[in-house]
Order: sequence, then C-alpha cells, then structure tokens
Amino acid sequence: MAEFHEAIIIGGGPAGLTAGIYLVRGGIDTLLLERIVPGGTPVNTDRVENYPGFPEGISGRALMERFTSHAQSCGLAIKEFAEVVEVSYTGNTFLITTTSHQFESIGLIIATGTEPAKMNIPGEREFVGMGISYCATCDGAFFKNMDVAVIGGGDAAIEESLSLAKIVKKVYVVHRRDRLRAQKILQERAFRNDKIMFLWNKKPIEIGGTGQVEYLIVEDTLTGERTTVHVSGVFVYVGSRPNTSFLGNLVERDEAGFIVTDGNLCTKTKGLFVAGDARKKTLRQIATAVGDGALAAVNLERYIVEER
Ligand code: NAP
Repeated sequence: MAEFHEAIIIGGGPAGLTAGIYLVRGGIDTLLLERIVPGGTPVNTDRVENYPGFPEGISGRALMERFTSHAQSCGLAIKEFAEVVEVSYTGNTFLITTTSHQFESIGLIIATGTEPAKMNIPGEREFVGMGISYCATCDGAFFKNMDVAVIGGGDAAIEESLSLAKIVKKVYVVHRRDRLRAQKILQERAFRNDKIMFLWNKKPIEIGGTGQVEYLIVEDTLTGERTTVHVSGVFVYVGSRPNTSFLGNLVERDEAGFIVTDGNLCTKTKGLFVAGDARKKTLRQIATAVGDGALAAVNLERYIVEER
C-alpha cells in the first residue's frame, strides 16, 4: 500500500529544502524524496559568492549542509536514495512510484533541478571517469599539475576554470563564440588568471587517447580549421537539462524540456507545483531556487488546506 503524506517534494536541492521548511512550518505533513542525498547541484560548487548572508563566500557543500540541517530541525522528513520513476494523478491524489516504494499525496512539488548537458561528440561517453568530467570540484584533484580543457563559456565553465586553475598547470577554456556568457566578475577574474588560456570560436569535435584522455580536437567556427589540444582532462560545462520524464503528460514543457508554470508556480495539473532549475525561467541561481521553493510551498499549503 502506498505511504500517504499531504505533500511530497521531489528533489533535495535549494528549492526542495526551502519548500520543505515552509510546508512543515505551515503545519503540512510533508515528505521529501531525494534520489541520492540532499544538497543538489551547489554541492559541486567550490565557492558560492552570490548567495546573500555570506560576504566572504561559502563552499557549496557547507551551504547545502546548512540548508539540510535547517530543514531537518524544522521537522522535515527526508527519504534518501529514493529515485522517482513515475508520477500519476488519480483525480484527487498523486501516486509517486520510486524504484522500491509507492507514495500518495494531495499535492506535489517538483524540485529535481537539472543534470549536465552532454556534448555528444566521439570519445565523450567512452572517457567518462578516464579524463572526462562534469564536476571540477569532485575530480579536479586528479589533474594536479596537468593541462586540462574546460568546454563552455557560462557561469559554471568560468567558475570551475578558476577553481581548477588552483590545482592544474594550465586550463584551456574552449568556447564556441568570441565572448563569454558568464557574469562579468567571473570573466574579469579569468582574464587576469595567467593559468587560464581562452580558445575562442572553437567547438569540440573529438576526444581521444589510449585508455585515458590525451587530446581534444577542436574546430574553428569561422575557418573550419582543426587543431589538436593535448590535455589529460576535459571538463564539460555546456549547460544543463531538466530531468522530468517521470512526469509524463502531467506538465507542459518548453522546447528544451523545462516545465512551464503559472505565476504561482503551478503546472497544468492542479496541486502539482515546480520550483527551482527544472522550471522554465530566466535566472537559475540558488537565490531564485530559494524564492521558488517558498512560493511553491505557500501556494501548495493553501491548496492542501482547501482540499482537506
Ligand atoms: P549556460 O549558462 O547555459 O552556459 C552553457 C555554455 O556552454 C554557453 O557558453 C554555451 O555557449 C556553451 N555550449 C552550449 N552547448 C554547447 C556545445 N554543444 N558545445 C560547446 N559549447 C556549448 O550553462 P551553465 O554555465 O551550466 O549554467 C546553468 C545555469 O546555472 C545558468 O543559469 C547559470 O547562470 C547558473 N549558474 C550560476 C552560477 C553562479 O551564479 N555562480 C554558477 C553556475 C551556474 P553559448 O554561450 O554560445 O550559448
């Protein structure tokens, strides 16, 4: 038989944990389901400098430990290693199926965030864990005093290039245009760092080596000329994709798969809300995820009180 809670939150990053704090404090019986352990994407960030309240910055892991202990101290129940594979709506309750259990709830908040986008080039899949990484904070130490490439020109690519530059010999930032998308403050720091070298207007074509990454082939987007860059590691930061396939047709998505909500963060299915990076929105930050979590929770609380 399915375990019942008035509200279920799927995903334990900044949005999900914030929603949990608000729901529990609002007197709603809430369970948070987390695929692995709580923390979300910020755990893979070396230093968070734009979340208010920490003028000297804080490691992503330390920040998320505070979020988690705050939510737990409010009484939020968290079930770890609970990967949701399907959600269905019966007309008045949601049925949530994980790989091992079933849960039922009046309302649901999706806060599953995103996962790293892939380049889909030859060698990428083969060399994961053998030189290809999507997390500099996790794997950077394996490349001490080596040359590495970072692919992408967004906040994540530049932030992680700066963190890698403290460990490795040289960082080649491979970007497909001639200007970065990242915040100005990060750009300026990277331009000043003499361990970081920019390969402008270059797209990655192939990664190769014998048993381990040894080179990356890039192509100039203006001339078509191909160059081989000799590196031991390639860190990929070409954006992110939401993981929302388990929701089937319960939600409307944009062309990139992000979930469309109304101003109250409700989807086309009543009682089903989305908070954080999985939502179609213009700014994906810890600060905006926290705001989403609070708003979705307050609206879900109202819905549950009406439905009780
Ligand atoms: P992003 O902002 O979407 O940037 C992705 C980068 O990868 C862009 O420079 C893009 O190039 C490039 N790219 C995309 N597809 C590519 C491909 N197939 N081959 C080569 N390059 C490709 O993604 P992100 O940096 O992962 O950030 C995701 C979200 O999290 C953003 O909203 C970001 O602001 C936020 N974030 C914030 C912080 C922070 O505030 N400190 C840190 C990390 C992430 P173009 O520029 O040409 O499109």
